[in-house]
Amino acid sequence: MTGFMWQCECGQIEYGEIPPEECSKCHKINSFTKLPEEIIGEREKEITK
Ligand SMILES: [Zn+2]
Repeated sequence: MTGFMWQCECGQIEYGEIPPEECSKCHKINSFTKLPEEIIGEREKEITK
């Protein structure tokens, strides 16, 4: 897996090496924070079930 998960204040989640400049949902600038890898692991488990 490459990149990280980024979550906007509005709840929008994007994947990538760097956070998106603008949220595609609420159009805020620099509103993304990096999600901890623990959370990513849990989500991957759910997806691959
Ligand atoms: Zn947003």
